[in-house]
Amino acid sequence: MNELDEILKFYREIGAGFLEYHRENPLKALNDLNREIGNCTKCKLYESKKNYVPGEGSAEPGIIFIGEGPGETEDNLGRPFVGRAGELLDKLIDRMGYSRETVFIGNIVKCRPPGNRNPLPEEVAACKPYLESQIDILKPKVIVCLGKVALNNLLGQNYSIMKERGKLFYFKDIPVIPTYHPAYILRQTTKDSTSKAKWDTWNDMKKVLEIVKKSR
Ligand code: SF4
Repeated sequence: MNELDEILKFYREIGAGFLEYHRENPLKALNDLNREIGNCTKCKLYESKKNYVPGEGSAEPGIIFIGEGPGETEDNLGRPFVGRAGELLDKLIDRMGYSRETVFIGNIVKCRPPGNRNPLPEEVAACKPYLESQIDILKPKVIVCLGKVALNNLLGQNYSIMKERGKLFYFKDIPVIPTYHPAYILRQTTKDSTSKAKWDTWNDMKKVLEIVKKSR
């Protein structure tokens, strides 16, 4: 165990967030947190996953995108949103004037739930502190929840994404805008429904961009 690991272990043992000791350096804090996630055995998901998927992007993003958990491709590669849904998310981010490198993309849980099932409450409870630490480090101007599972697990609610998408919520005083998960758009079976889902999502993202603009 190297010196940094020992420091992290010490901070964990005394129950203090490790963030306090280098809050001024978000990239370092993020890397240290990734290392902590990469050793995590706090829930059963660590047994079945191939790779941890802590998230990726800028250490000082204006926008964080949050999904529910890694899928098969993400599990194989250890990166978030890299399958077909990820390609769609990339296009959306590009259209917003950003890139993967200038936003942050993460998930509620960092290990793949088997068969892509929703994460169980105990898995979310074990993993959510990592997301909270990420948000604490990254200090985004706005959080985008991609789909119902991300929204409800972030806010501890039981909302319908169909009813609540595009509305403004808050997580620890940070604005939150929910929208559809890109996989929902891919599941549409007609040209009209696909087009509607894409337009709805884009209208939600216009609200996100407005929040970023106002916060400058
Ligand atoms: S899902 Fe989260 S809490 Fe569970 S083992 Fe993976 S990193 Fe740890």
